[in-house]
Amino acid sequence: MVKSIVDFFKNLPAKKCSKCGKQMEEQHECYGTVCNNCIDIQDL
Ligand SMILES: [Zn+2]
Repeated sequence: MVKSIVDFFKNLPAKKCSKCGKQMEEQHECYGTVCNNCIDIQDL
């Protein structure tokens, strides 16, 4: 059963930044849907 869960996550599409559309590595959930670069921009 554990293996099927791993496969499920592997089959998920790559996470993309909702701001610049750049493909992101898996990040902590707290980073949301934007890359580190755009998080800085959001602060402005
Ligand atoms: Zn971005």
